[in-house]
Amino acid sequence: FISSCKDNTVIKTENNLTTSNGVIEKKVTSLLSKMTLEEKIGQMNQYNGFWDVTGPTPESGDASKKYEHLKKGYVGSMLNVRGVDEIKAVQKIAVEETRLGIPLIIGFDVIHGYETLSPIPLAEAASWDLDAIELSAKMAAKEAAAAGINWTFAPMVDISRDARWGRVMEGAGEDPYLGSKIAIARVQGFQGYDLASPETIAACAKHWAGYGFAEAGRDYNTVDVGTSTLNNIIFPPFKAAADAGVKTFMNSFNELNGVPATGNAFLQRDILKGKWKYDGFVVSDWGSIKEMMEHGYAKNKNHAAKLAIKAGSDMDMESYAYVDELANLVRDGEVDEALINDAVRRILTVKYELGLFDDPYKYCNKETAKKVIGSKEINEAVLEVAKKSIVLLKNEKQLLPIKKEGQRIALIGALASDKTSPLGSWRLAAKDSTAVSVLEGMQNYHGNKLTYAKGADVTYGETTFANELKINVSDKSDFAEAINVAKQADVVVMVLGEHGFQSGEARSRTKLDLPGVQQDLLEAVYEVNPNIVLVLNNGRPLAITWADEHIPAIVEAWQLGTQSGHAIAQVLYGDYNPSGKLPMTFPRHVGQVPLYYNYKNTGRPIIPAPDEVFWSHYIDESNKPLYPFGHGLSYTTFSYANLTVDKKSADEVMVSVDVTNSGQVKGKEVVQLYIRDMVSSVTRPVKELKGFELIELKPQEKKTVRFKLTKSELGFFNNNGEFVFETGEFKVFVGGSSETSWEHGFEL
Ligand code: BGC
Repeated sequence: FISSCKDNTVIKTENNLTTSNGVIEKKVTSLLSKMTLEEKIGQMNQYNGFWDVTGPTPESGDASKKYEHLKKGYVGSMLNVRGVDEIKAVQKIAVEETRLGIPLIIGFDVIHGYETLSPIPLAEAASWDLDAIELSAKMAAKEAAAAGINWTFAPMVDISRDARWGRVMEGAGEDPYLGSKIAIARVQGFQGYDLASPETIAACAKHWAGYGFAEAGRDYNTVDVGTSTLNNIIFPPFKAAADAGVKTFMNSFNELNGVPATGNAFLQRDILKGKWKYDGFVVSDWGSIKEMMEHGYAKNKNHAAKLAIKAGSDMDMESYAYVDELANLVRDGEVDEALINDAVRRILTVKYELGLFDDPYKYCNKETAKKVIGSKEINEAVLEVAKKSIVLLKNEKQLLPIKKEGQRIALIGALASDKTSPLGSWRLAAKDSTAVSVLEGMQNYHGNKLTYAKGADVTYGETTFANELKINVSDKSDFAEAINVAKQADVVVMVLGEHGFQSGEARSRTKLDLPGVQQDLLEAVYEVNPNIVLVLNNGRPLAITWADEHIPAIVEAWQLGTQSGHAIAQVLYGDYNPSGKLPMTFPRHVGQVPLYYNYKNTGRPIIPAPDEVFWSHYIDESNKPLYPFGHGLSYTTFSYANLTVDKKSADEVMVSVDVTNSGQVKGKEVVQLYIRDMVSSVTRPVKELKGFELIELKPQEKKTVRFKLTKSELGFFNNNGEFVFETGEFKVFVGGSSETSWEHGFEL
């Protein structure tokens, strides 16, 4: 097959891009010149394949067609092929049986790990710990690469303000600044500094663009947003990922302002490949090229293929549109072959950068797979990030930390013993029931003195990624036992929330409550013993207003992956002092959604004058969130003093603040800085996160934290899509949550 490219020198550039000194470019040009039109289009074709070593299984869809295409070199990539032997088998066909022997790029949804799972991405975002997030992605890449994978469809960098949308679990929450920092950390974690290393994989920023703004939070729904939101809220994490050198983008299922993203030339050609000069490739989302027909944008598959390539979609995931239609479109003069060449060039470049031409089997080593998958190193890393992802929402009556001796503890809730739900959604390669449950984690401390009662099931029947969940809405037959154990305990720990498949793709909800009969269970237990520590397991913000008003201690523990139970127990018993902060606002009621901290003022006052009726509010619920963005407590307390703003030049200020650990134990705090541009040519939010630092302090220890604000933090995109900085009055706010009112004004 193709000659090797050993002479390819990988250079680390300032922005961590790995480039190839022009060597790869020459190789791509030479290879391209040898390819027939069909072979080129083959590179742009991606098939799903549940494959075993002898060939496709019935699950792989149109199996015989795929097999034939693979042998002819009409497939450039496959996804969902699982296992070293299986991957080796398909790769062998590509490199040994096709005319040019071009290796496949093997993709997989390594969303929060491969077999060993880290917390879901929304949970990891709550750590605000960029090093931990990077390390977690690095471990995921290492494990996936050891299993033969070259490319992950992550990170999802869609900003979302709507907790009803099931896929908020897969992103970094509502804020573009935090989202951008996390996008960079995850891209660096997956790709490392040397893509050719057998421990790194190519990343994919998805879903370009607007997917998180689906109307009413219903997955795949219409997206209609204005220029300001697009440029200032939706685009920034994508731009950050592109600047960090992410090798691929995935477009999205939704239409954006009337044009499906897959056929959207404004997004893919004008912004991404034009303005941003992005040189990686764009893969369509699953079947999204042919979905343009359902959207009412394409007449037929031929038309869809033409629209997609013209708009800049380089690879077709499972639409069969490019492989079936593109060659004719080129021959008929409907599509310029230059567009095909450009797409193929981009795809081949990534394959060369991954080193696949050097050794297409370098990711397929059974020995490595055995050594790496599930290793101690990976499990330790995921446990660390799991602890860091936990957010202490409320802690009264000194219930937490739980005393290790001398207390009778009751543990209640089906999720407390569940070893599958903590794995969350997107865990296609993980084995079910492999998470450490809360019950197991707490037994480490309390042994068999811990009493456990399920109380109620969350769901019924088989729950898989692919089936509809049946929620338990009526069966309370296990309540009595739970009430009984609660009566005999000093402290009751209740683990409630969502089943692992109640969030994720196609898992939108209209309610943000505790599903099924769990709210009733909580109230019934509270009647007999109010000393409850509520541990939430969920993939989205929940509106648990009753719980906040009654339950003394509440811990947000999301879906924390393989090591979940250990992480939760260490926090509950005080061996780990929680430091997580919410990356998304928790509403009081679903009717407030979308509710987010960086909203705009209206023309009406926030606090009404007496007897004021016509202010912007609800007559039946407060405007306030239940827990604001950035909120999270610790077992210690922090005090803030000496906020100063020092003007360095006409467009630069230094902000500094002294933070002291005013409590009794060592702890970490995420010091957050927000700004407000008071008057501008396009209205700006009441607060925008523009800096944060995670610090650790011993009791009474003080640290001065400094932030630099320059044009890039103080400016914004105007309605022409231009980034502008306007002088005038600004405010900075500093504190441990977005609700801090501690402010300082300055003029530039
Ligand atoms: C999702 C993508 C995912 C792809 C491949 C689609 O349904 O929207 O995010 O990467 O499937 O599994």
